[in-house]
Amino acid sequence: MIDNKSAYGGKKILVTGGAGFIGSHLCRRLLEEGNEVLCVDNFFTGNKKNILDLTENKKFEFMRHDVTFPLYVEVDQIYNLACPASPIHYQFDPVQTTKTSVHGAINMLGLAKRTKATILQASTSEVYGDPEIHPQVESYWGRVNPIGIRSCYDEGKRCAETLFFDYWRQHKLPIRVIRIFNTYGPNMHPRDGRVVSNFIVQALKNEDITIYGDGSQTRSFQYVDDLISGMIKMMDNKENFTGPVNIGNPHEFTIKELAEKVLKMIPESKSRIIYNDLPQDDPKKRQPDITLAKEKLDWEPKIQLEEGLKKTIGYFNSIKSEL
Ligand code: NAD
Ligand code: UDP
Repeated sequence: MIDNKSAYGGKKILVTGGAGFIGSHLCRRLLEEGNEVLCVDNFFTGNKKNILDLTENKKFEFMRHDVTFPLYVEVDQIYNLACPASPIHYQFDPVQTTKTSVHGAINMLGLAKRTKATILQASTSEVYGDPEIHPQVESYWGRVNPIGIRSCYDEGKRCAETLFFDYWRQHKLPIRVIRIFNTYGPNMHPRDGRVVSNFIVQALKNEDITIYGDGSQTRSFQYVDDLISGMIKMMDNKENFTGPVNIGNPHEFTIKELAEKVLKMIPESKSRIIYNDLPQDDPKKRQPDITLAKEKLDWEPKIQLEEGLKKTIGYFNSIKSEL
């Protein structure tokens, strides 16, 4: 276990949910920057394979642990990512999803308070719900159904934000809150049901491409490398800027446009587009206003959809036999 002195220089950084899609990229980047990384995960949606290559690194340590239980370690920074993120995963055990967001936040905030660590919360554009304001700015309070099938995630994340700001006000804890918009890239779970992975996997397997609804709903897709740069800039900002700050790519696409783009980029695919029912409370549009991130963090995304899709298609192609 990491003790209270880093044996190797750099910072001692805890990443909860570190074996998941985003967490695995974050652990890798933090190690590349010379830090010591403690990755905590209960493997609910994460995968050992995502972090297998990191286990050789002496500065990397993995701990199997559920963040709904207290954790006693000594660290300088905490990135709190533990939480299933795809609708089918977070709706599988909705009570556990709320517990992970809320109890997990309380436990990690308690840990930050004891160790005087700076703590970053991976919040979400879902706090805006099905928004009336477009694009979404941080000052918008959102339009969230408190009793629907997405509520365990949306309200859990909203409550976690409340806890972060109360720890900041009450205990002067250095906090950072980022609201992440739809992110995609290698290491996404091939069956987690999110739209980018679904469409690519369907196209590679010559299965029908399933558009929910008429495909006119929009999302703005961010490649994972851009997100990781934004996360680290936010954590390390010297002004103690707490956020909340949107981290996303403002280029907005309809879901139908995304399906057509994926098919165009996998020309050998025999898949055809089909239309299924739209899930309950599916937001009609989503686009981040990133003015605040530009101003405060000098950050904006660099990788546009086509380039990011190319890398992601390459990844799913490389694991095609497991799909
Ligand atoms: P993911 O499901 O791949 O990763 C989540 C990780 O958390 C998994 O490794 C899972 O096993 C772990 N986990 C879940 N419950 C846990 C618990 N109780 N204790 C310990 N570990 C637990 O999802 P992701 O896309 O990598 O998302 C990471 C974070 O970013 C999540 O908090 C998510 O809400 C947030 N986020 C992601 C997106 C996105 O588009 N991917 C958008 C907004 C917010
Ligand atoms: N979606 C779709 N087909 C799929 C998976 C998702 O049309 O196979 C739609 C979904 O209804 C939503 C959008 O794509 O409108 C994004 O879904 P995702 O689950 O990736 O993220 P979220 O809804 O949380 O933004």
